[in-house]
Amino acid sequence: MLIYWRFFYVMRTYLSFLNKAGTKAQTGIIVASLAFIVAASALFPSAGITAFAGNTSAPPKQTGTPFLTLPFEAGSNMSMLSGWYYSSSGGLHNGIDYINGGVNSRGWQTFPVIASADGLACGNCSSRQGNAVWVQHKVDGATYYTYYGHLASISKDIPLGAQSRTVAVKRGQFLGWAGDTGSRGALHLHFALYNASSRALDPYSLGKLRQHYPKPLDNSPGIGWFIGE
Ligand SMILES: [Zn+2]
Repeated sequence: MLIYWRFFYVMRTYLSFLNKAGTKAQTGIIVASLAFIVAASALFPSAGITAFAGNTSAPPKQTGTPFLTLPFEAGSNMSMLSGWYYSSSGGLHNGIDYINGGVNSRGWQTFPVIASADGLACGNCSSRQGNAVWVQHKVDGATYYTYYGHLASISKDIPLGAQSRTVAVKRGQFLGWAGDTGSRGALHLHFALYNASSRALDPYSLGKLRQHYPKPLDNSPGIGWFIGE
């Protein structure tokens, strides 16, 4: 049942996205692409698997320091509840929701929320969902903001209430405890990234449904790298 439910969830959200995107031409292209994939699979049933099995080399190592790292500590039972998508009501979910627990379970636990990069932090200092911390970052001359929403509490080291009152924080520094303030009982972290014009960006630069995002703490290349690399 769960599989069916998730399938319908994906399709509903995806169709909603198509409606949002809008044109019959795009739908036609997607249908044609699917038809091609089905046809190709019939002609070359094992090509993909063979290619995968033949690749025995390790994935390329990441080098340098990423702009952003994950906003929670490794070793926890973290999952991604939602990625970047257009909801069935037409709204955009413009961030990543992380939970401490399984996607198909409830009773999610709180966890320490940490800074994704060095920057200047303030608490409840701009538009927000419940308690939230904003951190301003400078990257190669450009300004970005990370946002940590629905917090149960904010670290006592972070000044509250005004963008003019900030404190320097380091990557990995404790910002607060994940909670459900402003989220109607769903204990999760809404993590978002904005540019200097307050435009939301997908931290993974994917812009796809949850199922297409990497699992938190997965060792695959790209995890926690977000943009900037
Ligand atoms: Zn969210």
